Amino acid sequence: MRVKMLDLTREYKIHRDEYMKAVNGVFDRGSFILGEYVSNFESMLAEYTGAKHAIGVANGTDAILLSLLASGIKPGDEVITTPFTFIATAETIVLAGAVPVFADIDPATFNISPESVKELITEKTRAVLPVHLYGNPADMDSIMSIAENRGLSVIEDCAQSLGANYRGRMTGTFGDAGTVSFFPTKNLGCAGDGGAIITNRDEVAEKARKLRVHGAEKKYVHSYIGFNSRLDSLQAALLSVKLPKLDEKNAARKRIAEIYNSRIKAHGVVKPALTPYGEHIYHQYTLLCSERDELKSFLAEKGVDSTIYYPVPLHRQKAFEKYSAGVNLPNAESAAAGVLSLPIYPELKDEEAEYAADQINSFYA
Ligand SMILES: *Cc1c(COP(=O)(O)O)cnc(C)c1O
Repeated sequence: MRVKMLDLTREYKIHRDEYMKAVNGVFDRGSFILGEYVSNFESMLAEYTGAKHAIGVANGTDAILLSLLASGIKPGDEVITTPFTFIATAETIVLAGAVPVFADIDPATFNISPESVKELITEKTRAVLPVHLYGNPADMDSIMSIAENRGLSVIEDCAQSLGANYRGRMTGTFGDAGTVSFFPTKNLGCAGDGGAIITNRDEVAEKARKLRVHGAEKKYVHSYIGFNSRLDSLQAALLSVKLPKLDEKNAARKRIAEIYNSRIKAHGVVKPALTPYGEHIYHQYTLLCSERDELKSFLAEKGVDSTIYYPVPLHRQKAFEKYSAGVNLPNAESAAAGVLSLPIYPELKDEEAEYAADQINSFYA
């Protein structure tokens, strides 16, 4: 059997008519930049997440950058984040002129360790940037209490966690802003690049809205130096059709995760950690494995895709060498050496997941 990491054509085949109708509607109106499609989707996203505001932007990376700037992060400020994430999380800190400070992670959840954050706070610290990695919420109670004690901003990177709740409240609504990506492979993906900022803070929303259109408060009147970073109307129209299906799609991911959880019996792997506070929506289903690289090759021989998210933690990347000389983060380093993500997406078939699980068992047998 061949089990692909992801096959987006399966989803398209199911929903093609609805998706094409949404796309055609945008052409019928001839309105492609901002306007009604974007503001409708923003209202839907605000309602879905429970955030007061949602602002559509060009991608998830810009969502982080604009959130940092809209929260008042200035050159020289230190922002504490995790090294065990996609580069965009920390790249944007540098693009905002600030200094990324890498904390270690919790070895069970792979999310930023609040104890490690606490140890790294200095006079210059202005913000904490947790990631809800793989769709599993970070320890927000601890992070928020540290931030509130020290007067720090919190930006939550929710690129992988849209729809995951933390003690009944959506990720992204705890701090100053939450950032979402609609990259096609994310739990809510569009047909290209897209992103959004969610926030309960009026001043952050107002500034982010200006930053995405060249810092303009109205046409040709510019309050700040900004960006061209809008969510396309075409993407917004498509996302408006897809958002109401997100909970159902996330539930389908959980069903696949349950197959893996019950069927994988091997002692050589540790299954995803669940927490008492967070709902895991399985953007990825990630195992911690002994002999990870051998297992990955074995699965490939058996036709089963797998991916390492992420093989090199950010503090070990050349791009960040200026910010991480002498930094040792043992938990992030051992996670990078041992993680392996299995195929998981709503349209993956049960028998495909069962086959993948059986191959893992037979590797360790
Ligand atoms: C995908 C992702 C991003 C960036 O989103 P883009 O839309 O690709 O710019 C940022 N952070 C994390 C954790 C991601 O997974």
